Amino acid sequence: MNDDPKPRPIAAGTSASDVLARDQRHVWHPFTQHGTEGDPIVLTGAKAASLFDAEGREILDLVSSWWTCTHGHAHPKINAALAEQAAAFEHVMFAGFTHRPAVDLATKVAALLPDDLARVFFSDDGSTSVEVALKIAYQYWINVGEPRRRVLVGFDGGYHGDTLGAMSLGRGSQMFSPFRDLMCKVYVLPYPSTFEGDDATDEREAGALSAFEALLSDRGQTVAALIIEPLLQGAGGMRICRPSFLQRLTALARKTGVLVIFDEVATGFGRTGTMFAMKQADVVPDLVCLSKGLTAGYMPLGLTVAREAVFEAFLGDSFDRALPHGHSFTANPLACAVGLASLALFEEEKTLQRIAHINKRHRPMLKELSAREDVTRPRLIGSILAFDVKAAGGYQSAQSRALRDFYLANGLNIRPLGQTVYLMPPYCITDDELTRAYAGMIEGLDTLSALA
Ligand code: PMP
Repeated sequence: MNDDPKPRPIAAGTSASDVLARDQRHVWHPFTQHGTEGDPIVLTGAKAASLFDAEGREILDLVSSWWTCTHGHAHPKINAALAEQAAAFEHVMFAGFTHRPAVDLATKVAALLPDDLARVFFSDDGSTSVEVALKIAYQYWINVGEPRRRVLVGFDGGYHGDTLGAMSLGRGSQMFSPFRDLMCKVYVLPYPSTFEGDDATDEREAGALSAFEALLSDRGQTVAALIIEPLLQGAGGMRICRPSFLQRLTALARKTGVLVIFDEVATGFGRTGTMFAMKQADVVPDLVCLSKGLTAGYMPLGLTVAREAVFEAFLGDSFDRALPHGHSFTANPLACAVGLASLALFEEEKTLQRIAHINKRHRPMLKELSAREDVTRPRLIGSILAFDVKAAGGYQSAQSRALRDFYLANGLNIRPLGQTVYLMPPYCITDDELTRAYAGMIEGLDTLSALA
């Protein structure tokens, strides 16, 4: 384990340029156009809020490594939990067997979630946790004798992962156009995105709710489930909605029995200021999807947590009613042990208080950003500060990439989502590091404005 933040050799006889050369020969990177993209940075270490490259250059991880890292990289207590579990056993199949790390994690997560949202299905990552939720929702209606309910509902700008079902529900993110014909049928509702100083939120919310109402009154009896990223659409551009919207949306769904799925893959584990975003709206979905911060960013693991009545619909005498789903690495004990250590840290390190502190530090920056001509739609939620840059185009536009490259060259891992620039730091970030992040972020905007 790397508790030493200093750069270390990659391996005897191997250099960064060698790694890079073989990367270029053999590796296909995620969400990357290899025809235009520059060389990736070879990392050799990570500690707390920082990444270190082969030359020992420090890069502040201001997007928490795709929103996974929570307590910071290479946390000694999580490292120890991982080593301890590895010494006991690394992985065993989970059909017909069980083990303490999985049961402890399920118990702990169930205790953190409200009401009877307490039946935990394990999978591999965010996308699979969503696939499982969709399959549960779909089969639920078959099991309870209403097979006409097969349509799923998502939101404009929603994103739920890259597997087929998740992609279908995330079609509103506009990221998956090559696969349009392969997707399953979904209805996409307008999303009432709001921001600091927005004076049209009520109107937008009313529009989204009446679109849902119209759908329910036209075809309510064919709708199986609705999925939403509560309070914050992540990949769609850090788009915030109000808790009251979630309340009214859930109430409408309940009227016609439509199952409600909250995708808390990104929002879970403190990002929006509470352990789960649903807490701020005080609503209980039928299913919730968890991943990313679940393991503090250490290991891939997904959970789909169902209310008891949903689980009960799968009980019976024949396998036909059971959920035909399960991954090789279901409930991987290493990942579960890491998840447990991470949840213990939330208490030990008073992590929610740290998040409140980050939020407080972001506030003056939000004000500064709001006053800039080149910035629109400033927003702040939990540990996340976000805004749109007028001059930056869409996803992977030249300006957006120029901004990303500027930040990286200046030791900041800030990776704009199209025109949206955001900070989502690990919770361990220090005040000094935040000051550095703000200064660099503003410098990037000034540089872009000077070019425009
Ligand atoms: N749901 C949401 C809300 C996400 O933000 C993501 C990933 N960014 C996913 C699902 C998919 O997770 P994964 O990449 O782990 O499959």
